[in-house]
Amino acid sequence: MGNIMIKKVFYQLSDPTQNVPEGDDAWLEKIKKEEIICDCWSIIKPKVIDVFLNDTIKKGFAPISYVRGTFIGMLHKDIVSLLGLQNIENIYYVGKVYDINKNLSKEYISVVPKVSFFVRGGKESNFRICEKCGAVSYFPLPLNSWYIIDKSIPNPILFPSALAGIIVNEEIYKKIKKSGIKRIGYEKLPVLKEAIDGLSLTIDI
Ligand SMILES: [Zn+2]
Repeated sequence: MGNIMIKKVFYQLSDPTQNVPEGDDAWLEKIKKEEIICDCWSIIKPKVIDVFLNDTIKKGFAPISYVRGTFIGMLHKDIVSLLGLQNIENIYYVGKVYDINKNLSKEYISVVPKVSFFVRGGKESNFRICEKCGAVSYFPLPLNSWYIIDKSIPNPILFPSALAGIIVNEEIYKKIKKSGIKRIGYEKLPVLKEAIDGLSLTIDI
């Protein structure tokens, strides 16, 4: 039946901290008004988006993070050099990050997924379509039972997760573990042949 596990394993890397950077209010309002992002957090027009924070760049920020209330990602230079800028540019639009004083951050870049990839869950997963922008919101449940579907894997190395993280193969996962870079959350994602959430969608999530 559908629930066949394939030998490959991927990992989602994400921000495990409570220290997610906050965007500048005026900037957030502006990109909503310009319909670049929606109230549902979705990015309506994926493109390079420069980030303006309502914060200084703090040591406690995670190396793989996002601007609170959006799916605009932020990547620290250590993780960028480890993953390779070219690999990142293949899957993200890369922009700049400015702190509260409008100073350009030397530590972080902004990343907007060219295409986001959905980590799947069971039948209790949350699924909805935004009435305003039509974007799919999907949150896999129960927790710790997440997986991805073999046929939809877009890239063998790394690709953006719709949960504001990066999904990487085992080789890269080991490389990052070995690097000792701190404040990265890891979720192991087995690869299944078919989804077990009961959603067979024409949009290939
Ligand atoms: Zn929306």
